[in-house]
Amino acid sequence: MKIQCPRCRQDWVKKVYIGITDRTVFHCYECEATWFSEDSIEYATFVQLHDYLGRKNIDPHSRKTYDTFVDDLEWFEIE
Ligand SMILES: [Zn+2]
Repeated sequence: MKIQCPRCRQDWVKKVYIGITDRTVFHCYECEATWFSEDSIEYATFVQLHDYLGRKNIDPHSRKTYDTFVDDLEWFEIE
């Protein structure tokens, strides 16, 4: 699914499994805007990834955190 990030308009939104929280989100790697469902991807509803992780006491700047991210490439290729 090619959805342009409605916040920064600089990148595509990616479907990303965040292993450390065991949650799949929709995420813009450019500006870190994050959504929890595909239907809610719009400017008004984004959360910052570091706020989401911080609320769970996870270090958002740690390499260990990012190493658990897995992009769903099949979703991205769906027309
Ligand atoms: Zn963005």
